[in-house]
Amino acid sequence: MKKYLYIIVLVLAACQPKQKDARELVTVSILPQKYFVDQIAGDLLQVNVLVPPGSSPHNYSILPSQMKDMAKSKVWLQIGLLTFEDAIGDKLSDINKDLTIINCSEEIDPIAGSECEEEGHDHAHHEAYDPHIWLAPAESKIIAQNTLKALKAGFPQHATIFDTNYERLISKIDSISALIDQKLASLTNRNILIFHPALGYYARQFALTQTALELDGKEPSPKHMKSIVDLAREQNIRVIFIQKEFDAENAQQLARELDGEVVIIDPLDYDWEKQLLDITDKIAAQK
Ligand SMILES: [Zn+2]
Repeated sequence: MKKYLYIIVLVLAACQPKQKDARELVTVSILPQKYFVDQIAGDLLQVNVLVPPGSSPHNYSILPSQMKDMAKSKVWLQIGLLTFEDAIGDKLSDINKDLTIINCSEEIDPIAGSECEEEGHDHAHHEAYDPHIWLAPAESKIIAQNTLKALKAGFPQHATIFDTNYERLISKIDSISALIDQKLASLTNRNILIFHPALGYYARQFALTQTALELDGKEPSPKHMKSIVDLAREQNIRVIFIQKEFDAENAQQLARELDGEVVIIDPLDYDWEKQLLDITDKIAAQK
């Protein structure tokens, strides 16, 4: 009997029509932006993320299959400072004339991109401004504001819900900001060493100084490594932060020279809140 019941259940399950997601589609460039959309829209919208986990948003090329999702999207929330976003813009006008493109960095005071110190570099992939705006609460509030504006324009039928959720998100960002202030208050050494300079806006908000190992988006040269070693000794830095996507070899070599350690962070994680607090705790733990 039990066996028959099992078979019946199986047959019924197989006969269920495949549930299609009927929700309208919003595209975002990177995963942390999905967090902001989800906070404001709840489960009212479907979110398409362009840069998949493990890929770099700095040199990403969109796949042909992703253009299909772009064609179905009503709104694309760009970071606005990533070069790959410019590259798609032109192709898009052919496939989706009604797509609303929103620049989430609008009204943010951008930090200039890293200066190129060495000669003979290829400037083609160099970003004019630091795109890591989502890693500081101050800029994240502006991202949230731009996201709200875009969602209300694209999906006015949900405006009231968006407004309520937005208010809650802003209070959450404010309390995280206050918590970070508190966690970093007693930090005496406010210098941080990082492989890829993702914490520029975070450093600006919380009065830290960020030094990057990477130079102009490239692996450090021996000359640059030497100057970093000198600087780190002078500033008594023993921790080198690195994003999980990067090859840790240079960072480990540096850590050995400084008798320090490599600490992994994940700025492209979906869970913005968890990530910001994790980065903060790791900075606060620096001696
Ligand atoms: Zn980056």
